[in-house]
Amino acid sequence: MAKYTKRRRIIQGLSLLVLASIPLRLLCFDFETDSIRAYGAEFGLSTMFYPLFAIVGLLLYVVILSMKKGRIFCSHMCPMHMFLETVNSSGNRNSGRRPLLVWGLAIVLSLFLAEVILSFFLPISRQVVLVGEGHRALIGIGAAIFLGLLGLFVHYQESFCKRGCPYALIQMLLQSDRTRYMEFSNPEKTCTNCRGCDNVCPFNLRARFESRGTDCTNCNLCAEACEVELGAGNTLFHLIDAQSVEDSVFR
Ligand code: SF4
Ligand code: SF4
Repeated sequence: MAKYTKRRRIIQGLSLLVLASIPLRLLCFDFETDSIRAYGAEFGLSTMFYPLFAIVGLLLYVVILSMKKGRIFCSHMCPMHMFLETVNSSGNRNSGRRPLLVWGLAIVLSLFLAEVILSFFLPISRQVVLVGEGHRALIGIGAAIFLGLLGLFVHYQESFCKRGCPYALIQMLLQSDRTRYMEFSNPEKTCTNCRGCDNVCPFNLRARFESRGTDCTNCNLCAEACEVELGAGNTLFHLIDAQSVEDSVFR
């Protein structure tokens, strides 16, 4: 596995851990004390702006990073990308078990993410009590979040990432000629047309023709698939940074 993908997997794992820490109430809003709890620290009404500023700062950091690195949030942190990497992997893409895998993973992820959202405000134990008492508002909100997420995972998949996701829209505005992109270059005509690159793209892009567009997440999977076909150290795909373009111009 390439170093880039290893680092991406670590960041994806950490993102899932942060999400999982919410149902565990390590990161949550506590209505009883009117405070935000974050990994052992507690911020009351007078200090709540600290974690809120930290969240805003983190979002700004991702936005600024996206100007330089492209859709970094998608390929490194988004659960939908992790889902698409699995169901659209070369082994699963055309297999008969794909529909089962899509439904199974979609149900698990939708339940998990719905619970992440709800349990930020309400502990699971309290949710269970309220649902047992027939609390209609909680049941309705929980069901709406779950079904909405299930629809995204099962029905919209990468179409949502391309056309519906607010981050994609922001990314379109941030993209410039200084943003990292995945370049396909075949100067010695060594491409065998094996379509390995197309078969791993989570977003179902035709990697050789569409990797420079705003939909590409720079996940690097096409570059790795190409290396499998052409041999170690050989790939027709390269992540290009504005800096390296400037370097090659001035070298
Ligand atoms: S074109 Fe390549 S880098 Fe871009 S999303 Fe598809 S597989 Fe990832
Ligand atoms: S994986 Fe490489 S060799 Fe195969 S079609 Fe894509 S660019 Fe060509």
